[in-house]
Amino acid sequence: TQNPKTALTKPTFCHYCTDFIWGLAGYQCEVCNFMSHEKCLKNVKIPCSCIAPSLVRVPVAHCFGPPGHYKRKFCTVCRKSLESLAFRCEVCELHVHTDCILFACSDCRQCHQDGHQEHVSDTYHHHWREGNLSSSARCEVCKKTCGSSEVLSGMRCEWCGILAHSACYIIVTPECTFGRLRNMILPPNCVQLFSRNFSKLHCFRISENLQTESDEDDDVDGSTQGSAKDVQISTDSSKQTLKIFDGNDAVKRNQFRLISVPRIAKNEEVVEAALRAYYINDDQQEYELQTFTQQALLSDDVINRNDDAEDSNLGSVFRESVPEAWIIRAKPKDEEVIRIYAAWLKVGMAYVSLRVNKDSTTQTVIKEVLPLLGRQFLIDPDNNLQCFQIRLMFFLSLVQRMVLDNQELILNRLKDIRKTSIRQMNQTRFYIVENSKSIVQVNLFVGGLPPQLSSEEYTNILKDELAIKTNVVSVSHVYQAQGAVVLEISCFSEAERIYMLVKDTTVNDKPLNAVVIPEVRDSKIPQNCCPLLVFVNPKSGGLKGRDLLYSFRKLLNPHQVFELTNGGPLPGFHTFSKVPSFRVLVCGGDGTVGWVLGALEEIRHKLVCSEPSVAILPLGTGNDLGRVLRWGAGYSGEDPYSILVSVDEADDVLMDRWTILLDAEEPAEGAENGVAEPEPPKIVQMNNYCGLGIDAELSLDFHHAREEEPGKFNSRFHNKGVYVKVGLQKISHTRNLHKDIKLQVDQHEVELPSIEGLIFINIPSWGSGADLWGSESDNRFEKPRIDDGLLEVVGVTGVVHMGQVQGGFRSGIRIAQGSYFRVTLLKPIPVQVDGEPWIQAPGQIIISAAGPKVLAKFVATGNLGEYVALPEGLPEQWPLQRKNG
Ligand SMILES: [Zn+2]
Ligand SMILES: [Zn+2]
Ligand SMILES: [Zn+2]
Ligand SMILES: [Zn+2]
Ligand SMILES: [Zn+2]
Ligand SMILES: [Zn+2]
Repeated sequence: TQNPKTALTKPTFCHYCTDFIWGLAGYQCEVCNFMSHEKCLKNVKIPCSCIAPSLVRVPVAHCFGPPGHYKRKFCTVCRKSLESLAFRCEVCELHVHTDCILFACSDCRQCHQDGHQEHVSDTYHHHWREGNLSSSARCEVCKKTCGSSEVLSGMRCEWCGILAHSACYIIVTPECTFGRLRNMILPPNCVQLFSRNFSKLHCFRISENLQTESDEDDDVDGSTQGSAKDVQISTDSSKQTLKIFDGNDAVKRNQFRLISVPRIAKNEEVVEAALRAYYINDDQQEYELQTFTQQALLSDDVINRNDDAEDSNLGSVFRESVPEAWIIRAKPKDEEVIRIYAAWLKVGMAYVSLRVNKDSTTQTVIKEVLPLLGRQFLIDPDNNLQCFQIRLMFFLSLVQRMVLDNQELILNRLKDIRKTSIRQMNQTRFYIVENSKSIVQVNLFVGGLPPQLSSEEYTNILKDELAIKTNVVSVSHVYQAQGAVVLEISCFSEAERIYMLVKDTTVNDKPLNAVVIPEVRDSKIPQNCCPLLVFVNPKSGGLKGRDLLYSFRKLLNPHQVFELTNGGPLPGFHTFSKVPSFRVLVCGGDGTVGWVLGALEEIRHKLVCSEPSVAILPLGTGNDLGRVLRWGAGYSGEDPYSILVSVDEADDVLMDRWTILLDAEEPAEGAENGVAEPEPPKIVQMNNYCGLGIDAELSLDFHHAREEEPGKFNSRFHNKGVYVKVGLQKISHTRNLHKDIKLQVDQHEVELPSIEGLIFINIPSWGSGADLWGSESDNRFEKPRIDDGLLEVVGVTGVVHMGQVQGGFRSGIRIAQGSYFRVTLLKPIPVQVDGEPWIQAPGQIIISAAGPKVLAKFVATGNLGEYVALPEGLPEQWPLQRKNG
């Protein structure tokens, strides 16, 4: 712990105990602004931002998307509140100012094993993150409030979600069992991914254009404006403000931080303030300030030659003419002590310290270090050189690795890095790594290809379009029906090249898409674990889909959460294809649900778990399926954690699904320009209902209206209004659907009454919750069920009748019940299936049962969040406890 220095500041809350600090006796750290009571100071165990990176055992980079505005959050680096543009990690609770991002500690959650790290243990420790808890948060240990909306305080485990005070978390048992959601979380040791230089966003398949609406003035080129706000340009004439650059890198980019020091400050004091501004916790005597001259901008060579000459200038920073800008430099050394981490050690002693001089090379270091780490079993010391290598790992916001050449002089390398940036040096580690002939295997899903081709034909397309190198790239899976392949690539740079190139490639005018697929190691999945595969359509329900994506990535393993706009449902099912037992959560409208269920139907035979149960979280307007499964009319901002708990507790029900074959005899109405080419038969899946005539026509108009002005249709309320208005315009029309179609039910011709619309219903909710069949019993028909293998057929006489059904005053005209239907269209007729409308050309429509029924999740109550989570350790079948009131 960096000991905060005394300072009298305005009264505030203690970052340690969250209580108010009365009077002016606060203790504040000058580096990270940590503030506490005097009595709390001696207990503080939270590392200061300047030493936190050195305490991280395995650095894991965060996953920063584009910057945004986040209310009521605090910066993890400087601990101040985020009023301005800031970054957040997309998979953990870390928030930082745009100009603090360079100083963030790379301690994100480890969600997968990177490459062949066989040493990752199968037990997990809590992954504590400080601050940004809700103000109602309760401490696991002392049961008192531990959240604060005033300051960064309190701790939360990023996996199991337990909460504790900064004072209490250290006595919580370190093992983490993933908490209440443990049987739906995909454990990190079950996921393997060769990520290397793929960005985190790519690895977690997060779209990069998340918030395109952020204003452009707030550009994040990291230049001056961010730093300026930290140190108010002092009006106090006894103080002065200086620009401090960190090495050549900062000079080149013109990035500096401002410090404010007394005019009569000693040289050391200025160096110390400069180090503090860069969160460097080293002895100031090892550093010096160099004047910033225009020459420094020229080249590294100029700077190198200046090194000696500058020394004479450094006697005092403050001679008559005070330069406003300085570069912070490390003083040259002939010898120093470096830490070498053993990459294979995950517990116990993580590193050894070693003295290196100007003659030390990578080679000599390996020879010296191995015995210290107990690895002297190789008789021939030269052989050690082939078996081990020294790697540098830089973990400045991105974690990057590089291998040192065997002959390289270590001190020279250190000198070079320091010249570039002393902050970078501070964030660099030496690792000794076993030189395994590791086999690289990157799996890339490539979609958007023409359907129904063979593996060879796909390979040829990829050779032509992407110039893939077939010696390192092979097609491992083909999804013919969907026009997609999975590539197995044994070379990183080739994988990266293909990934980037795919985004700019179109085949037959269709853009290709690429998704990085992690490998799920099914044998490692615990027996009682049935991971949840989550699909979210971010376009459904306004921006709610986006928020849910973010929440689910944080609550679960981001590798189990798939954004449907990024390659559809197939990459998710492919990733889970070997998982022995899993369940699915689909967040979106009925159309999205149909999309996912349709994809599941198509590739069911390729899944080890061929009948996963499917839960639905309705987003947006007019969702009938979610309603029937008692999830309510739609998601309106419930706590994502309670949603996952409800999914876990939901019962399975079976639901019929139907296949509709549409065989047009003549070209559809759309093909006006003469070319009379009959369409091939079309097959669609139906979950909810299928409508012919007026019902489809209304949604067709609505569909057009929505495509013209998509922005207007975000609220569910508004959507309904438009639906009614479009309907009213139709009242004047008269039509005779019963004369334009013929209906056959289970081989029998059925006489149709005078109607304008004919609807086949699978579920007892139509048009956002209406009961079209009605509740009266009727000895001609069975009581409808969603799993009886029967569809109900109902007629409506027109828009007025439909309105009455919507209002609950009437039901439709019962026409038939059956399991096989043939409809003959005598003229073009509007048709809709699960809300997706089009005009169908004359011909045959055949509706029959599709494959296995869907195992859907049926919630026992309509209200989410009514349950109290099961206390730890209770048996699974324990009766549910209800909250009182
Ligand atoms: Zn305190
Ligand atoms: Zn501090
Ligand atoms: Zn900050
Ligand atoms: Zn993170
Ligand atoms: Zn935990
Ligand atoms: Zn506590």
